[in-house]
This record gives sequence, structure tokens and C-alpha cells, in this order.
Amino acid sequence: MLLRGIGTSGMATGYAYVVRNISADTTYSKGTLEEELQAVARAMDKTRNHLQTLSATSDIFAAHAEMVDDPMLLQTIEGYIQDDALSAPDAIDATSEALQVVFREMDDEYLRARADDVKDICIQLRNNVLSLSQHQYEDLMPGSILVADELLPSDTSYLDFSALSGIVTAKGNRTSHVCIIANNKGVPSVVGVNDCMHSINTGDYILLDAGRGYVYVNPDEETRRQFESELTAHNESSAVAEAHAYEKAVTMSGKAVPVMGNAGDIDDVKAALAAGADGIGLFRSEFLFMDKTSLPDEDTQYQAYLEAAKLCGDKPLTIRLLDIGGDKCPSYIHLEKEDNPFLGMRGIRFLLAHKDIFKTQLKAILRASVSGDIRIMLPFVSDAGEIDDTLALMAVCRQELTETGTGFNPDVKIGIMIETPAAVLAAAILAEKVAFFSIGTNDLTQYVMAADRNDGLVRNYYNVSHPAVMRAIKLVTEEAHVHGITISVCGEAASDVMLTQQLLQNGADALSVNATAVARVKAHIREM
Ligand code: PEP
Ligand code: MG
Repeated sequence: MLLRGIGTSGMATGYAYVVRNISADTTYSKGTLEEELQAVARAMDKTRNHLQTLSATSDIFAAHAEMVDDPMLLQTIEGYIQDDALSAPDAIDATSEALQVVFREMDDEYLRARADDVKDICIQLRNNVLSLSQHQYEDLMPGSILVADELLPSDTSYLDFSALSGIVTAKGNRTSHVCIIANNKGVPSVVGVNDCMHSINTGDYILLDAGRGYVYVNPDEETRRQFESELTAHNESSAVAEAHAYEKAVTMSGKAVPVMGNAGDIDDVKAALAAGADGIGLFRSEFLFMDKTSLPDEDTQYQAYLEAAKLCGDKPLTIRLLDIGGDKCPSYIHLEKEDNPFLGMRGIRFLLAHKDIFKTQLKAILRASVSGDIRIMLPFVSDAGEIDDTLALMAVCRQELTETGTGFNPDVKIGIMIETPAAVLAAAILAEKVAFFSIGTNDLTQYVMAADRNDGLVRNYYNVSHPAVMRAIKLVTEEAHVHGITISVCGEAASDVMLTQQLLQNGADALSVNATAVARVKAHIREM
């Protein structure tokens, strides 16, 4: 059986370990009212202690630790036990449902997002009442493929990624926590596999082709043999490629193609450089904001950019300005509810509408710019005025830094992401204002093809190889070259060796890829 979802990269084989909602099957004998209340109190303590220990590792857990102490949570659970005579686990379930409904119906984006936190905390509470191990993964055999409906931040904190060959989930998309974390740890994952919980049982043999988003369940001999030989070839060519990962990628005709890395945090920067990246072509700065409970201030941001710049040394570090909106919004930023967030206040539009947040980020980057080859990249540009307004704001930031005697590089290069059809069609105008372009094929594909990048139903329409997308890439590279600026590709397409030749033939000067793809993409370029 072949199931399909949204994959990251890599291939794996292994036996499935399906995580079901095990607490649903556990028998529980209800005690007296007093005993049920005590069971809840004990579970609260246990959950609180655990979350407090985890707080140091992530702001998400710190926020969860605070939420456990919210009196509304305990009062609601106790209310169900006292007024409706429910058992402790049932009262927690009822509370979870009720509070999730309340949160999801709120107008405020921040509060709506709290529904998932309530769900996560209540699952932990319920498991603790039932004395179930939080990590239902204790008997997970090394090399298994973990299959779950959904993996929440608390689940991933218990998971030993080094023991996993792969991950399959029914829910989630490319920007889900689990996808990002698994990708960073080099564990192939396929998410959004709607029917995986019905179609896969523990012990089933799985072939995971994350690059294509394929999950083969108990494949026939022929498919298995073919896949395993592809996997062997993949591993062998990876080993050969890795031996040359630190060398430049030069085509047979002598054209050097920088292969840089994509990063969301400092660990990713380290991973990309360790994998042989010629710099960082896309530092998704919004990930510095995503796992926090409040806006990181200028100093916090400055320290992060500085550390990344120092790690890069004399290699470029391209910091993409905060790209929120669409499906990415830190919980503490209050966005207006929009019918079409992907066509709404995203990226540079959000920043220009929130000049205080924008200035803080620009100043932090400018301060770090004395310590490396930092470049600034604007996300989601659709109009030249956005570049003008950014440059004007940057002039204000420079002025303010100068007044306080703070150093910065006055010649920081400014570039833009090309990810809207408008940016492609207006490339000639935009190219006059910036030093470089970088094509975000993830978004460019969704906007050219009118197909949501996270919607499994229109997966067949979301096709980066479609002639319309390739034509758009060609158009924009031509304009870049006419205007003498460089153009790279930093969307997921750049990590796909099946597309390397096409992207370079269409005019890309450089690529920015996932750490795990650096060596392979370089090897591919050398064969061109
Ligand atoms: C893109 O759109 O291709 C891109 C690199 O940006 P993101 O995936 O972060 O939207
Ligand atoms: Mg994008």
C-alpha cells in the first residue's frame, strides 16, 4: 500500500511503532470524590515538576508550566468531578474539550493558539492520573518508524530522535515543530498522511521516501527490492559526496556554484557549516521568535545574529527578516484574523505595519554586521515601495546607532526573496534597488500555481517543476543578470538533486539547501 504526505528529505526503512492514544484504552477504577480530587492534585504536581524541568530547554515548556498553574484549569476539572460526578481522567478530558472550544472561538489569534497548549497539557495530566508513562515510547525499538496522529512539543521532548529511523504523522505540515526538529536531527519524516493511523499497525514494514512524501506499507517484494537498492545507492553516493563536501562545487564547464545552507537557529547554522555549506543563504529569523513567549528584544536578537555571524566567519550569512503571517505566527503576536492569511499581512507587509518590531530587528542585525559578512533579505516582496520604505527605515536605524556611537557595517548588502508572481513580473524595477535576489520556490510555487503549499488535497497542483514555475524562474534570473545582480534559489527545490540541473540552466547562480543536502547537491553540480 502506498500512502502519501508531505515529506522532508531522506529515505528510511524500518518497522512501524504506532503510538495510539493509549490512555483511552486503559481501565481506571473511579474512587470517592475525595480520591478523584487527590488524583488530580497529584497529577498536577507531577506535570508541573516535569514541565519546570523542561522549561530551561524551551520557552514553550515554560509557558506550559505557567498554564498548569492557571486556576481556571484546576477549577474546571474539579467542577466536572464535583458537579458531574466524573472520574479524574474523564473530568480532564471534558475540561480539555471545553477549554479548547472556548479558546478556538476567540477573536484574538494569540488566544486561539492556546487551544493546542490546553490539549497538550491535558494529555499530560490525564496520563499522569493514569500513572502512564508520558513517553509511550519506552519500548520503541531502535530503528523504528514512529507513526502517530500528531506529535506535540511535549512528545518531542520525550523522544530520542537518535533511536528513530523515520516519522510518519497524520497531522502537521512542513512547518510543524516535529518536521523542523526531525529535519534538523536528520530523521526523515512524512507528515499530513491523513489515513496513516488506520492503514498502519505496529510491526508493519515501512519504506519511507521523505523526499517524495511516500510511505510504503508492507510493500511487495519487487517494490521492497527496488527501494532498498535505491537506499543503498543513496547511502553510497552520500558517503562519496560527503568526502568532498568541503570542496567547492564547480561544473564540468568551470562554473563555480556556491551551495549555501538554510537555517532556522544556531544549531542549524552549525549543522550546515559542518556539512560543507559555503555560507548561510537563508537564515529564517522568524524561528528565533517562534518558540518564545514574548518578543525577543534587540540584545537577544543581536546575540543570536552575532553568534551566527561568528560561526560563518568570512562566509556570507543571509538573514531573512522576520517572515510571519501565513501559517507562521508566534503566539504572543496579535494578528488580526484574516480570511486568507497567505494573501494577507505576511513578511515585509507585517514588518512595515509594525515599525517598532521592524526597527528592533534591523538595529540588532546592523549591530552584528561588523562581525561578519551579513546580508539582509526581505521576505514576501510584491512592490518596489516596500524596498524604499525598508531602506528609509534602515537609514533611521543607522542614524540612531551613529548617535549612540554604536558600530555597524554601512555597506550591508540588501536583497529580496522572489516568492510572489508580482516580484517576478516587476523584477526589472526591483533589481535596480537591491544587491541580490533569492527565489523562494516554496511560496513562488503556491502563488504561481494557486495551490496552498500545506493542503494535501491540491498536492498535485503544487508542482515546482510545472512549466509556469520554471518560466517564472527563468524570467527573474534573466532580469537579475541584465541588472548585474546575483540570484540564488533557497526554497526546498534547491535541495532536490532532480532539479539542480534545471535550476542552474534556468540561470540560478547559487543554491541554498538543507544541511543534509549540501554534499549531494555539490556532487551533482560537479557532474554537470
Ligand atoms: C520559500 O518560500 O521558498 C522560502 C524559502 O521561504 P519559507 O519556506 O520560509 O516560506
Ligand atoms: Mg517563503
